[in-house]
Amino acid sequence: MRNQERYEVAKFGGWSLANGERTKSAMDYVSANPDVHYVVPSGPGSVNDGDRKVTDHLIDITKAKNSGRSYQVYLDAVNAQFMGIADFLGYYDMARLLGSLEVGIANGQSDAWIISRGEAIEGKMLGELLDFRFVDPTEIIRFRKNGQLDERSYGLIHSRLKGRDRFVISGFYGLGADGQIMTFPRDGSDITGAVIARGINASLYQNLTSIDGVLSADPRIVREKTRLIEKLTFEEYRELGNAGIKVLHRDTIIPVANVGIPINVRHSLKPESRGTMVVSKRPTVEGEDVIGIGGRGGIASFNIHKFGMSEDKGIADRILNIIQRSGISIDYPLAETDRLLVTFNQEQLTGQEDEILAKIRRIIKPLSAELRKNVGFISIVGQGIRENRERVSRMLFPALDDASIKFSGFTSTPSGISIVVFVDSNMVDDAIRAAHRALIG
Ligand code: ASP
Repeated sequence: MRNQERYEVAKFGGWSLANGERTKSAMDYVSANPDVHYVVPSGPGSVNDGDRKVTDHLIDITKAKNSGRSYQVYLDAVNAQFMGIADFLGYYDMARLLGSLEVGIANGQSDAWIISRGEAIEGKMLGELLDFRFVDPTEIIRFRKNGQLDERSYGLIHSRLKGRDRFVISGFYGLGADGQIMTFPRDGSDITGAVIARGINASLYQNLTSIDGVLSADPRIVREKTRLIEKLTFEEYRELGNAGIKVLHRDTIIPVANVGIPINVRHSLKPESRGTMVVSKRPTVEGEDVIGIGGRGGIASFNIHKFGMSEDKGIADRILNIIQRSGISIDYPLAETDRLLVTFNQEQLTGQEDEILAKIRRIIKPLSAELRKNVGFISIVGQGIRENRERVSRMLFPALDDASIKFSGFTSTPSGISIVVFVDSNMVDDAIRAAHRALIG
């Protein structure tokens, strides 16, 4: 039975549920798509850019409460947004749900309980309005002591949600190892959607949001035409994500990519546009070697040089150890003959750099060990690069040169699907624009 039918998850972001009209469109979308068996909502988000979301107000409530201040204004804001939505949709039970929020806060419920109520109330309301079964995620999503997802959740999801019913499961939270409510990081409903998709082995994870899909570059940087990427692989998506093109929460694709469940990112108010598919494999389109270009600055790197490094097997481990022990999590180590370049996010430097360098000098005894700051990079991504690296390079480097962009190095990732060019932090945006013009149009 199950094999003949498609079982899809549709996750709606906060923007798509921020007011009555948008929520109505989300519900219409679900009603028109019988393959959607599982709906995962965020709490109501911002109506206009820069507005605070329900979750922001709920966090403000916990802060005010914990410091003994009045939280009434924030509670009023939550009530107003939810009542507006309920009135528009003719939902009769909202006043009661908001009443229990107020009582819970007054009776000393935990911060996580309060912060998760945007999703909790939204889920209950949508379940009733759509006539789907509402499942509270504390029943099926569990966290380990260290806050990571407990893999046993997949089994719980599978047994609780199997069958042919249709369900609404609130995003963003679950149950911690101590039996109390716990949330994912901010924007974490994306992760809930992915975890549900994996648990029920969905045919597709639809992520409905305020944007058309994954674009070929950040539109705030490339003001001319960015292109909507119709299809890209998980690997390409990760490379673009690492280069600053962020569409979904970064932990979203891990549960689904490893088992090959495709993700469809699409605009919740444009049901006719198909958005972007993120898949395990795709055919390479001739003439479309590069699909996207990202980049970011604010990177620092340790550059260590010692003759004989290439023959010394444990040396890279020792260097990485020294750096990581000081609390720095590294992006990539790059090795060349007798040289190791370790790059990481510069924000992590809190004054420990001199000690790291001193330790490296003492233990490794290099010819030189230097720290460089304010490095940036751009990443040219597309699986077509694997076959056509020369063609891409012939277009890329002259374009950078024409735009007077100096680069301090370049490399290609081991998978071969991207070319990374290192430039000064303050040249990143110009470099992205120049490369985009030359390679994508
Ligand atoms: N409402 C939560 C937040 O604002 C989770 C989410 O929207 O994904 O972070």
